[in-house]
Amino acid sequence: MTGLADSSAVDDPAAMAACQVPDHYRAAVVFAADQGVFAGIPSHERDLHKTLHVIEVPTPVPGPGEVLIAVMASSINYNTVWTAMFEPVSTFRFLKAFSRTSASAARHEQPYHVVGSDAAGVVLRVGPGVTRWHPGDEIVTHCLHVGLAEPAGHDDALLDPDQRIWGYETNFGGLGELALVQATQLMPKPAHLSWEEAACLNLTLSTAYRQLVSGHGAAMKQGDRVLIWGACGGLGGYATQLVLNGGGIPICVVSSEEKAALCRQRGAEFIINRSAFEFWNPRGEPRRRNWSRFRDAVHDLAGGDPDIVFEHPGRETFGVSVLTAARGGTIVTCASTHGYEHLYDNRHLWMHVKRIIGTHSANYREAWKANELVIHGRIHPIMSRVYPLDRIADAACAVRANEHHGKVGVLCLAPREGLGIRDERKRERHLDQITLFQQPSGPE
Ligand code: NDP
Repeated sequence: MTGLADSSAVDDPAAMAACQVPDHYRAAVVFAADQGVFAGIPSHERDLHKTLHVIEVPTPVPGPGEVLIAVMASSINYNTVWTAMFEPVSTFRFLKAFSRTSASAARHEQPYHVVGSDAAGVVLRVGPGVTRWHPGDEIVTHCLHVGLAEPAGHDDALLDPDQRIWGYETNFGGLGELALVQATQLMPKPAHLSWEEAACLNLTLSTAYRQLVSGHGAAMKQGDRVLIWGACGGLGGYATQLVLNGGGIPICVVSSEEKAALCRQRGAEFIINRSAFEFWNPRGEPRRRNWSRFRDAVHDLAGGDPDIVFEHPGRETFGVSVLTAARGGTIVTCASTHGYEHLYDNRHLWMHVKRIIGTHSANYREAWKANELVIHGRIHPIMSRVYPLDRIADAACAVRANEHHGKVGVLCLAPREGLGIRDERKRERHLDQITLFQQPSGPE
């Protein structure tokens, strides 16, 4: 892209805001024409190199309430893996449905889908009616795109029938040199972080915040025991930090001793390696004795049952989660990575008066509160690898293969890592913690 990427403006927000906006930009996309390419191929064998591409796309013009941002860095969320596999459905369905809602939304239906639901960058242009944000502001994004034309969403934006995940259910997402967002998706970038660190936070952190901390989720209290599946992953890594930060007691579940050691270094005392328990036999039937063994192991390790179970693997673990939660406890779920048709024994739920709560993403206020925890140095970015935009398929494959810890960053306009740090003194104060959460996840 001429102008922004080639100019000396690249780490100078005022100069960047003064640049001419190019009429095309480079972005990571999937093509509508590829929707049938994986027919008959099981999900785990689908090669994302076949479907994720970097191409030049036309620059959208921000409409009312919208903002065009220069993306310095982004990160991989699992929704990009789903999009590139065309699983569980093709995201072109979402774009088509969205495009029918208004003339301005019609722009989102294109033969390509620009993916990505996180970004750190600079405001370039604001559309009519945007007053809070100005060209040159350094920002991070919240992934919830809302309509709010209906009353339902004004109590909690997740109840808005027009809420969508930006870059998954809308076009012009964060994995590109530019992106189009609503003004109500923007939040101040934490000044002590680099672009790629700042881009590795918000989607998973805000989801974990709502899931655990918010009254819309499990409303965790000090002293609560919280069982966290995937405690070194994107959601689980932030959940572990939130539990420790909020006076709870994390019980971290991981699949290797290397990840167990990381959890320990980061302050968790109770860690379980799930590879010692096979929850299903090869015919897909539950090994209930192992479910009970797991529950007993958790109880013995933590001196009691978990008040909250932080769920996302889905079918693979959900029955174990319902069994393992304490009497009166809460299972709070936001995903079903390993199958969305769950099997659990309902007696454990009703006779022990447990609750299951469904949650999704976060509203703007929840995302803002989570971002403030980062600004105040209470939560730190977890990042184990960084890729250039051109290697988007490698980055997404690494996440799908579970090779990472926490998050995988992607450099978009930022030419190298480490740029964008504005508050060196604050960084210095938190450097030990920042370093602790950024250990590389082995050689590629
Ligand atoms: P990651 O891949 O970063 O982490 C997932 C973790 O799950 C891994 O670290 C892994 O840890 C663990 N895991 C993998 N397989 C299993 C298994 N069979 N049983 C138990 N644990 C397993 O993904 P994210 O944390 O970013 O996302 C997880 C899911 O949540 C995805 O499906 C994603 O789409 C969804 N999601 C939903 C959101 C929403 O708003 N609804 C928001 C964000 C994510 P280990 O191998 O160490 O056990």
